[in-house]
Amino acid sequence: MSRDINKKFWDEELETLPREELEKRQLEDLKEIVKFAYENAPYYKRSFDEAGVKPEDIKTLKDIEKFPFINKKTQRDTQGVGSFLGELAAVPEEDVVFISTSSGSTGVPTMSPFTKKDFDEFQDTESRWFWQIGMRPNDRYVHALNFSLYVGGPDVIGAQNLGALCIWGGTLPSERLLFILKTYKPTIIWTSPSYAWQLGEKAVKAGYDPKKDFNIKKIIVAGELGGSIDATRKAIEDLWGAEVYDFYGLSDIFGACAAQCEYHDGLHIAENHILVETIDIHTGEVLEPGQTGELVFTTLRKHARPLIRFKTGDIGRIDTTKCRCGRTHGRISILGRKDDMFIVSAVNVFPSDIEAVIREQSGITGEYLIRIFEQDFTSKYAVEIEKKADNAKTDDEVAEQVSAALKARTGVKPARVVVHPDGGLNTRSEHKSRRVIDERNIDYNI
Ligand SMILES: [Zn+2]
Repeated sequence: MSRDINKKFWDEELETLPREELEKRQLEDLKEIVKFAYENAPYYKRSFDEAGVKPEDIKTLKDIEKFPFINKKTQRDTQGVGSFLGELAAVPEEDVVFISTSSGSTGVPTMSPFTKKDFDEFQDTESRWFWQIGMRPNDRYVHALNFSLYVGGPDVIGAQNLGALCIWGGTLPSERLLFILKTYKPTIIWTSPSYAWQLGEKAVKAGYDPKKDFNIKKIIVAGELGGSIDATRKAIEDLWGAEVYDFYGLSDIFGACAAQCEYHDGLHIAENHILVETIDIHTGEVLEPGQTGELVFTTLRKHARPLIRFKTGDIGRIDTTKCRCGRTHGRISILGRKDDMFIVSAVNVFPSDIEAVIREQSGITGEYLIRIFEQDFTSKYAVEIEKKADNAKTDDEVAEQVSAALKARTGVKPARVVVHPDGGLNTRSEHKSRRVIDERNIDYNI
């Protein structure tokens, strides 16, 4: 049976559940998964016993606050202990059909296992996000994400299950990707925001007009913050003449756990799968919805490796009010990684704030590099940018303009702004761009 392409929702009942009803379902699943984790995962049995809590203590959603946190370190420490899947896993290996691993960019890669049911529900969630941004069976879709080990690779199956014509692009060299865009005329593509920008620039340099020579109507971006920074999103949209949608994934859960709708006002998170808490980054105290802190997720339905109170390391907030699109699942906004945040003169600064300023300024290319360093026992930051070739201002004038804008936005002036000529910064890469260099010798205890 094919779906009505005019239907707004992938799963209307689920996506528009009244809040009370949604929370009732969350509570049922929470009770079940906490019990399942306690009875089947050696780590949870031990940690709950040590904390003096039992699955029966969950009477309301708030009762989750009595349970201990876990984090990346817990995953690393328990991985491979006792069995191949480790002590956080709650099913035997024969029930597992897929594992993805994290990039390992901040340490030993961690492995995320899925049962068949976990995987099917993961893909149904991905179909829901694709439908939400307007993908329909008559779309042609290029999945230009890494397929090797990475949890975002299989997301293409969600698009395929929806009925779209899928092109498993992976991380093709840009010339071949441009050939596909030109020849097959796909309507939707998913890549990282920095690559969406660079691919557009390469297309222009190769003599294409991305607005006319291709047929891209929508660009999905994830993996970096740009898609939620209005100035960056707008710059990519202007370059391609397409609408940009930000997705948010976690290697520990799903390729995309949350996605923007047509209002681009935060990212709807699959609250039927994830119970979201926000905690104070210093005290661990649980905050109210709307307040900014570290996001803590409990997976409500993943049985292979349940995550109970997993500290994500991402700083953000959740808005649980109903969205204008009619969906009731809360919307998260991510400000940045806890370990990317730096404190200058008692002010929390996120690289995303700096990016927003750089992308809004005229006369510079939008490429940047941030250096964080220590001087006189305090943290400072410097920003390197590129002046456009046709900018008549002197380097000093450009530096002063950017410095003042950064002070206005973040509250603290950079120690210096270094101005390079157009193309002078080595930040354009085929993959995730490294734009923050921390030269301080600090041991982060995340
Ligand atoms: Zn919405």
